[in-house]
Amino acid sequence: MTELPQKFIKRMRERLGETFPAFLASYDFSPCKGLRVNTLKISEEEFLRRAPFPLLGSVGEGTHGYYIEEEKPGADPYHFAGLYYLQEPSAMTVGGMSEVLPKKRVLDLCAAPGGKTTHIAAQMAGEGVLIANEVNFGRAKILSQNVERMGIGNCAVISAQPESLASRFSAFFDLVLVDAPCSGEGMFKKEESAIPEWSEENVARCAARQREILDSAADMVCLGGHLLYSTCTFAEEEDEWQIENFLSRHSDFSLLEMKKLYPHTFRGEGHFCALLKREEGTVLRAKPFPIRRDTQAEKAFYAFEEDFFERPHEGSLHTLADGRMYLVPAGMPDLTGASLLRLGVE
Ligand code: SAM
Repeated sequence: MTELPQKFIKRMRERLGETFPAFLASYDFSPCKGLRVNTLKISEEEFLRRAPFPLLGSVGEGTHGYYIEEEKPGADPYHFAGLYYLQEPSAMTVGGMSEVLPKKRVLDLCAAPGGKTTHIAAQMAGEGVLIANEVNFGRAKILSQNVERMGIGNCAVISAQPESLASRFSAFFDLVLVDAPCSGEGMFKKEESAIPEWSEENVARCAARQREILDSAADMVCLGGHLLYSTCTFAEEEDEWQIENFLSRHSDFSLLEMKKLYPHTFRGEGHFCALLKREEGTVLRAKPFPIRRDTQAEKAFYAFEEDFFERPHEGSLHTLADGRMYLVPAGMPDLTGASLLRLGVE
């Protein structure tokens, strides 16, 4: 069994009361694994017919996710082709919560490696604009690779600090997702290296950082828009109390739904998510992305398009100084100043 920190055990016993033994017993089992079908590339029915290894039941409605026990599910050609994304099952409930929300302009503020970005992108089905931000540039590169593998054409990948984005995108997004860096108590089985890093001090540090990220995120939600917050930890400081505290500072937001999944109440490693809504009002506009044109390159692209594409492209062609050309989705805002890793389709 996983060796858990004594202080963590004490906190969980106090929190869970009589259900604590069931929680503790969940550590006797190996971590739950799952995959999510990428409906941008294949329908769920078709994937079920072609699945390269056994799928052991659905994770839940709206997730397109399935439990698996395959030893190396990342080594299959279908994985390289982006037909599915490997994701811990309880993390899929976050995308499940955003399923029915309007998503013309979406920001995933803490996005790498891309589990939730790719889930939301599938729900957007190529419509609207998705900005996936990851503050750590190395992780942002992995995020960008996953966006490409999953065939997402309406996504820009950037690397910026939340507060610098907040100063530019005031009240701009219909949906902002904050899948916050956290103390990772729900990761103890999957990544045992998270265990020695755990301490009450680290929980407090994470909570303080989440508070700052949430304040930046709140600024960027349009009036009438939504803020979706999640963690993979059980600590109230980072979950319920964090949301309570947020609401006390932001009277223009209200709580629509909150879910806490424990490994003994849900077949997964555990997750917390809260969906908040900002008061209705006028939606603001942002400056559009400044398109840099290169007529010679565009001519070559149009000739290529005519020969190879069934449908003409939608969006604008933007040429970088080094000659690379991007098909930028309509509605992309100006991202000048943020490190740009991907901008629609290269
Ligand atoms: N959403 C991702 C997914 O589903 O695959 C997982 C995100 S992970 C829980 C949290 C991310 O927040 C990490 O990639 C981390 O680098 C990033 N992060 C760390 N400190 C941050 C900060 N101060 N502001 C914004 N993001 C931060």
